[in-house]
Amino acid sequence: MKYIDGFRNPEAAAVLRRQIHALAGEVHLQRSGRALHIMEVCGTHTMAIGRYGIRTILPDTVSLLSGPGCPVCVTDSGYIDAAIALAERGLIICTFGDMVHVPGRRSTLAGCRSAGYDIRTCYSPLEALDIAKQHPEREVVFLGIGFETTIGPVISIVDQALKKQISNVSILTAFKRVIPALHALMGDPEIQIDAFLCPAHVSVVIGAAAYQGIVDTYHIPCVIAGFEPLDILYGIDGILRQWADRAFCVDNQYNRVVTDTGNPFIQALMQTYLQPADASWRGLGAISASGWDLKEEYARFDACRKFDLTLTAGQVPNGCRCGDVIKGKLAPRECLLFGTVCTPSNPVGPCMVSTEGSCAAAYRYG
Ligand code: SF4
Repeated sequence: MKYIDGFRNPEAAAVLRRQIHALAGEVHLQRSGRALHIMEVCGTHTMAIGRYGIRTILPDTVSLLSGPGCPVCVTDSGYIDAAIALAERGLIICTFGDMVHVPGRRSTLAGCRSAGYDIRTCYSPLEALDIAKQHPEREVVFLGIGFETTIGPVISIVDQALKKQISNVSILTAFKRVIPALHALMGDPEIQIDAFLCPAHVSVVIGAAAYQGIVDTYHIPCVIAGFEPLDILYGIDGILRQWADRAFCVDNQYNRVVTDTGNPFIQALMQTYLQPADASWRGLGAISASGWDLKEEYARFDACRKFDLTLTAGQVPNGCRCGDVIKGKLAPRECLLFGTVCTPSNPVGPCMVSTEGSCAAAYRYG
């Protein structure tokens, strides 16, 4: 508790707030009056920024944009359609909870479950293995979405299935890599990003050094921060300092958890079973080498290859602007459906479904 209190200390927050305002004034002058746009690329940051009211204490010249950091939000709706198609073939579908409420073309996985199909919510990917062992006569598919943070635990399904000789389990993969997405965002002329507040969980796996290419290519700060209010304020302070000095680098402020080189165990697991692949992102479209596929020798654990399924782009619900929200081009409240047609109890798009979605954060915290 004492540890947490240290990152929620109001006096320290007041000092940081004054520093941020002073630095922002300096940077604003240097940039000839242009506002500074900082993008956070982590759903947990998005929620923390909303929960602690960070936006309300920043100067008007600093704006926080929420980027493609929520794994559910960036997953193309065609993926939901594919999962439903597999359920309708009589397979057991295992998934993390958020996914069951994301609308596909015809239904959600929750709707599919109500219709009698076998959709199971898991807290750990390895539960899919237990279910496969309990039902050797049936096929079990785990919905493997997400960034480097969740890839390790999901891919351990393959590792353990090989060791335990379980063959009736597979993964419907839609894994994403953060760094190619950051390059894609920087390459979009319609989005102005002056700094990244880098994702903390992903950085634990890939390491701080992974962002050096972003700094070298675009000459902007990349600051890794934790999730407590002072973590985030220190992160913003660090970004402003780099802009004030016009000296840009990767600044790992979450070094109590993140190392320079990341987690070697998970990296080795990924190298063993996966290979980079093109991936389709909601909002960002197809990005070269921005995902991971199972290597050919493990194709029997890839649900698409095992069941001869092709993932196709899904349909965006009428009026839903999740794609623009994910890119930081539109604030959630600017979507005409926000808070009226689209609410957490009746979500139209994934950004309202997910506990890490920008629209859910804006609805909950204002
Ligand atoms: S408010 Fe709803 S419909 Fe609009 S962008 Fe957000 S999730 Fe999509």
